[in-house]
Amino acid sequence: MKPIWRNTRFLAIPLALAAAVFGGCQTVDTTQPGTVGVDRDQRMMLSSADVDKAAAQAYQKAMQEAAKKGVLNRDAAQVQRVRAISSRLIPATAAFRKDAPSWKWEVNVISSPEVNAWCMPGGKLAIYTGLIEKLKVSDDELAAVMGHEIAHALREHGRERASQQAAQNAVIGIGAALLGIGDAGAGLVNIVADVTIGLPYSREFEVEADRIGVELAARAGYDPRAAVTLWQKMGQAGGGAPPEFLSTHPSPQNRQKDLADYAARVMPLYEAARKR
Ligand SMILES: [Zn+2]
Repeated sequence: MKPIWRNTRFLAIPLALAAAVFGGCQTVDTTQPGTVGVDRDQRMMLSSADVDKAAAQAYQKAMQEAAKKGVLNRDAAQVQRVRAISSRLIPATAAFRKDAPSWKWEVNVISSPEVNAWCMPGGKLAIYTGLIEKLKVSDDELAAVMGHEIAHALREHGRERASQQAAQNAVIGIGAALLGIGDAGAGLVNIVADVTIGLPYSREFEVEADRIGVELAARAGYDPRAAVTLWQKMGQAGGGAPPEFLSTHPSPQNRQKDLADYAARVMPLYEAARKR
């Protein structure tokens, strides 16, 4: 089922409006390269503050919707397990950006057969029970998925994706000036929800999230090689819409090789974390 706030039809005008309101374009690199060496200039038209604020609202809305359906945090043991893993991953984010450990992180579990997980900008995570149960994930594998999703938030891929859309819409020339500014905030909430959950990220973003994800897992004391077994399981699961982390990977062999290479690279971090 597609919630109303995932409907792309509603996006064109708010995007152009957001571009006009928040204006300008800046080139940033959101994270430190870390051991895995992710380093790429990112063009942003929207500010972090605005995107994070919108994400907080979109997340609250999604969780309220889940609560209303009775699918929010139904199994206390699962919630505790997921939050125990996030509480180790979150301090590890400091290796990529100093501000991240003090973000207002939220971690919740949704009861759904979908094999999925996502993280909205600013550190708002959702893990689906379908992922935990259907794949019978180990803690190391769960840390791999969560590390990947957290990496999207650290790299501000949601903000970058929304900025790309804003730029495209601005070129099309929708008359933002004709509209009131009042809707910009609400529009951005929809955009952020959509770029996190509704639309696939580019392959480039996925590779970055994979590499940063294995390093986060290793630094948190989770075996980074679990990313490879997890993705093997995922490839076999099949059925239904592809989960966020599989959406733009036409070549699972390349991905597994890349994950294995980078897992090997961060093994010393894992060994060091285990000794602590
Ligand atoms: Zn991803």
